[in-house]
Amino acid sequence: MPNCENCHSKWSWKQTIKKTFTLDPAMTCPYCGERQYQTQKSKTINAFLTPIVLLPLLLKIFFDIPGAILLSLFPTLFVIVLLIYPFLIKLSSKEEYINLSKEKQ
Ligand SMILES: [Zn+2]
Repeated sequence: MPNCENCHSKWSWKQTIKKTFTLDPAMTCPYCGERQYQTQKSKTINAFLTPIVLLPLLLKIFFDIPGAILLSLFPTLFVIVLLIYPFLIKLSSKEEYINLSKEKQ
């Protein structure tokens, strides 16, 4: 589970899910109110996590999987990804964008 870089409080699973499922890349710490961002490394790891949900589609190409199994695989994988997601998030007080944050100002 992620730790706030500012106050070092550990975010709960529920808090992390709630913060990450917004379009805003900045996540306000529920303990100190400081804006936190996902580190570049954590974003990269999460980018690899998303395709897991689409894995059944890939399997379908190679194996003849019945549609019912395929359909039940999607929510199962989605839940698994959702469960492990907050454990992989690392927080930073600085937004780790290459050049992008400077251009915005
Ligand atoms: Zn904090």
